[in-house]
Amino acid sequence: MPSRHSTFFELRDALGRPGCVVCRLAARSVRRYLEALAFESVNDLGLRASLRHARGFCNLHAWQLLDDAREPFGAGIIYRDVLNACVETLARSGGARGDLSGRGGCLACDARDRSAARYVDALVDHLNEPEIARRLEDGGGLCWRHFALGVTRGGRGVRALARAELGAIDRVGDPAWLPTRPAAAAPTAGVRAGNAAPRPTPDEEVGDPLVALVVGLRGVHGPLTTGVAARAWGPPPPAAEGAPLSEWDECRLCQRARRAVHGAAGALGADDSPGELCPPHAWMAVDLGGPAVVRRRLGPSLEHLRERVVDSADALRRAESIGVGPFALATPSGHRARGDLALRLAIGRGCVVCQAQLAAEEDGPPGRDGPLCRPHLLGLDAPSEPSLAAWRGIVADLEEYIRKNDYRFRDEPRGPEQRSPWRAAAAAAAGPGLR
Ligand SMILES: [Zn+2]
Ligand SMILES: [Zn+2]
Ligand SMILES: [Zn+2]
Ligand SMILES: [Zn+2]
Repeated sequence: MPSRHSTFFELRDALGRPGCVVCRLAARSVRRYLEALAFESVNDLGLRASLRHARGFCNLHAWQLLDDAREPFGAGIIYRDVLNACVETLARSGGARGDLSGRGGCLACDARDRSAARYVDALVDHLNEPEIARRLEDGGGLCWRHFALGVTRGGRGVRALARAELGAIDRVGDPAWLPTRPAAAAPTAGVRAGNAAPRPTPDEEVGDPLVALVVGLRGVHGPLTTGVAARAWGPPPPAAEGAPLSEWDECRLCQRARRAVHGAAGALGADDSPGELCPPHAWMAVDLGGPAVVRRRLGPSLEHLRERVVDSADALRRAESIGVGPFALATPSGHRARGDLALRLAIGRGCVVCQAQLAAEEDGPPGRDGPLCRPHLLGLDAPSEPSLAAWRGIVADLEEYIRKNDYRFRDEPRGPEQRSPWRAAAAAAAGPGLR
């Protein structure tokens, strides 16, 4: 874990960029974590056991490992374990599903959340410095989730955080406003250590500042909507079930869900009613219909958030911690007030695109044949034999893929087994962008 010192310098450098600084740094932590993990998982048996018990990663991180961290070999090793364990579980239990759900949660989500908490603490700790507060405001503030996290965790700069966020809310409400883009800050030694030449990443691009403030930067929370997922959203999905599968062999319910999501996100432009959108679907709708459509939809949420912060000025005053030494000491009443405030700040879970996806997945009998991905098999009363057979086939391909990765066999021709890490991710975590 980086020292408090290096955490602050990373934060200060990243504050020179537009968009939620905590999203950006947490996303970078996850990327590094996945790269290191893909490498270590080849040999670390304890880590592989944890991944096996968790049934791999969540949808976002399963696809980020392949698409953003670009670690198909590590992913192949991990998902050979995961699918083997799923096959054994299903075979042993005679088709009972319960044990297919993971234990312990997604390790990459844990890494992201730990990192976000660390950077939020460092930020709140320094926000009484006018220069830091000004750069936060000029960059478009924190996303709503990380603002609420900062308020919940508290610290001596929590009121300065609210002031800066109010300033940012006023700015992003103006469609003509863009966050300042100073010249890229000089990278500190710690930032690039152990990393190859930096490449542009999804979170480097802010997109619309209002959308960024309400839902956070792309690719940080919820399923992936960049890279391989964006390609999947690009062309209209096949019109009928049974149409050719995607290159990673999505299950038929994944295909049905994808059509529903594509339709609902694409139709947002025709319907001006305000409403919530989850982070991935907000960004997908920006891609499909442009930022104006999504701004119209999320505008009332922004106004709601602004009123909440203004109304909560008193609560924040009570919540402000008494700074003592490097760690601010919170009073019990301050802690309570922050907890209350965080509850009132919470945004509901009313994404219309998510609702369309759920409705499509639950709509009617799924058909009795054909394999399903693990998440869809978990939620359905369908026979498990076709899925078992498909997963065994993927494991066999993964064995071949891993074997051919050995330098002794590198001259052997490459075949369809080269797709197996992607097929394994789709089988274990559903198709890109779908959970
Ligand atoms: Zn954020
Ligand atoms: Zn995750
Ligand atoms: Zn599926
Ligand atoms: Zn959604």
